[in-house]
Amino acid sequence: MKKEFWFIVGSQDLYGQEVLRTVAERAQEMAKELSKVLPYPLVYKVTAMSNSQITDVIKEANYDDSCYGIVTWCHTFSPSKMWINGFTNLQKPYCHLATQYNLEIPDNEIDMDYMNLNQSAHGDREHGFIAARLRTSRKIIAGYWKDEELQRRLGKWMRVCIGVRASQTMKVMRFGDNMREVAVTEGDKVEAQIKLGWQVNTWATGDLVKEMSKVTEGEIDSLMEDYKSKYDIATDNIQAIRYQAREEIAMKKMMDRNGCKAFTNTFQDLYGMEQLPGLASQNLMAQGYGYGGEGDWKVSAMTAIIKAMGKNENGSSAFMEDYTYHLVKGKEYSLGAHMLEVCPSLAADRPRIETHHLGIGMNEKDPARLVFEGKAGKAIVASLIDMGGRLRLIVQDIEAVKPIMKMPNLPVARVMWRALPDLTTGLECWLLTGGAHHTTLSYDVDAEMLRDWARIMDIEFVHIGKDTTVESLEKELLYNDLIWKLK
Ligand code: MN
Repeated sequence: MKKEFWFIVGSQDLYGQEVLRTVAERAQEMAKELSKVLPYPLVYKVTAMSNSQITDVIKEANYDDSCYGIVTWCHTFSPSKMWINGFTNLQKPYCHLATQYNLEIPDNEIDMDYMNLNQSAHGDREHGFIAARLRTSRKIIAGYWKDEELQRRLGKWMRVCIGVRASQTMKVMRFGDNMREVAVTEGDKVEAQIKLGWQVNTWATGDLVKEMSKVTEGEIDSLMEDYKSKYDIATDNIQAIRYQAREEIAMKKMMDRNGCKAFTNTFQDLYGMEQLPGLASQNLMAQGYGYGGEGDWKVSAMTAIIKAMGKNENGSSAFMEDYTYHLVKGKEYSLGAHMLEVCPSLAADRPRIETHHLGIGMNEKDPARLVFEGKAGKAIVASLIDMGGRLRLIVQDIEAVKPIMKMPNLPVARVMWRALPDLTTGLECWLLTGGAHHTTLSYDVDAEMLRDWARIMDIEFVHIGKDTTVESLEKELLYNDLIWKLK
């Protein structure tokens, strides 16, 4: 299925054929040139001059699955009562591209004919008003269309729309239920389906065990080759790795058969299995599947969605958990890991497959897992929580670093970071907001993208960044509580 974005140009019929022809030609040129640098094609559809033309193209956009969003632009003035019927029916993400064809005002050349043709500044204001008046959810991107920063932001918004579709079609396969007594991994699955489109359902661990028994040695052999090509084998316990391969193949078959892109399991329900899936879950995440430990379906789906928003629709993003702190003044860091399951897309170097004893859970045998250090760089952690009556997405900016110590006895993948604005303020903000211990950590999706995503999905969004203070955040959360009760 092709993925494209539609370029819809607003105008009116008062300008004469020559002006309208020029507008259409320029719009076609812009769509063609922008498509060369954007991650998805921008397809010029129409220079719309009437209510019915706009309504028709928006109806078409709603029903065409290849259309992931619409981008509007006003080269001239487009009276925006013409847009009311269209916008009230719009079901696709919408970006108002506030740009103009020319970079410069031509000093000597400019006359009233030029002004007639080039009046984006005028048209954009009329266009902005009607979306504001209608409370239409939209992204506004302003600047010169050949500017790299504008192109980068438009590209990022397109990736957000890929995440919107990934959400609307998300199916989560749960093996067993949540870890007993844990609060934050719970939530209203009906609300999640209404708002986000997610279909979250449970399969028995016994179904997985049955599927595992049908996996052939030949299938395992070929997955072992894949492991060897991507990872260093740093254990003599080949049987443990083969067992993980068996688990991976069975889980992948069940998910693919049911159209699922994300899964959960829990160490409290591994009946009939020898090992908690470690390497198996990690290698599935490397292929773009979402994962959540302890039955955490919210983080699992978010991980799959955020991965889909990244490069090649499988970005450097992973299921993560805050574990422990280094609180030495001036060197404050968080250490993140999980019992086993961190996606190797975060790895700074080639991961190693190791086997170690795992005391927690029902493991009869030592599970194989990938061990590596996370990369340094700017990143975010994101957590979706159920506030009762609404969902809240929390995003915190972080700076990942090369871990400052080797930790040779820590048998899991690890990432070290400093939360913004600083560890303790960032922590106070995170706790105040109610963010979970499970997060999705991403190097290639940022807070702006997740803010855009949350706006489109119509859920609450809270960003903790370099300028956040506890005081300002406390007020924001108080206001949000009132607003979301009224909504
Ligand atoms: Mn956990």
